[in-house]
Amino acid sequence: MATPTTPQAPLGTQLSIAILGGGIAGLSTALALARQGFQDITIYEAAKGLGEVGAGINITINLARIMERLGCLDYARDRAVALEQYKVLESENDEQLTHVNLDYLQKDFGYPFLVVHRRDLQGAILKGCQSLPDQIKFQLHTALLEVDYTPTPEGKTRFKVKRNVAPPTDPENVKGAADKKAQEEDLDREEVWLEADLVIAADGIRSVARRDMLKKLGEEDHS
Ligand SMILES: Cc1cc2nc3c(=O)[nH]c(=O)nc-3n(C[C@H](O)[C@H](O)[C@H](O)COP(=O)(O)OP(=O)(O)OC[C@H]3O[C@@H](n4cnc5c(N)ncnc54)[C@H](O)[C@@H]3O)c2cc1C
Repeated sequence: MATPTTPQAPLGTQLSIAILGGGIAGLSTALALARQGFQDITIYEAAKGLGEVGAGINITINLARIMERLGCLDYARDRAVALEQYKVLESENDEQLTHVNLDYLQKDFGYPFLVVHRRDLQGAILKGCQSLPDQIKFQLHTALLEVDYTPTPEGKTRFKVKRNVAPPTDPENVKGAADKKAQEEDLDREEVWLEADLVIAADGIRSVARRDMLKKLGEEDHS
């Protein structure tokens, strides 16, 4: 009797990689893989543009070290504030409970504790990705609808996307405005199955990719 074989995807830097979602996780994964020499990376992102939204976010020293390695620290550092110290105060009367001098971070670890607007952190990683256009491609306004985790005979993973449609979590879509606009503009809104050797889910807290993985495992998605 023939032994069943598991389909094998080709290894090496020619691997086709689909990253589902272009937030901080998706962009930094793409940049890290490109810096490792992978040549065929596509980011599928539901939003029309790569969102630089949010509020303040910390760039701790371990993150600063990684960003420097990925070549995207300078952009963020130029827009960040380096904390010199922090104090914890009692909310009732402003009595000082703790005081930490942060000078030692630069001295001992080579980086300060930075605080930056989230859009500048995402912008820094995005610029890093955009500086490698031969390796990293973007398919914006492309919403993931479904992932089929049963590998094809060639060992690829298939996923279905709908182009020119707002993500289900986009508040604009809730109002129907984005859909209406797409109809007006007569956009191509086809649903297509795509495939890649490696599919990486980075589609955020309401992940479609996680939903389908849990479904396949017979588990419930509690998000
Ligand atoms: C105000 C604020 C401050 C924060 N401060 C900190 C901090 O100091 N330190 C810290 O570590 N974290 C902080 N966080 C949390 C941090 O921002 C999140 O953990 C991080 O953004 C998660 O990144 P992500 O890429 O996983 O998800 P997201 O940033 O949500 O990205 C997911 C991406 O996938 C896209 N997407 C979603 N569904 C689909 C679909 N069906 N098809 C295609 N694309 C899709 C979305 O449009 C989005 O671009 C903060 C968050 C907020 C809101």
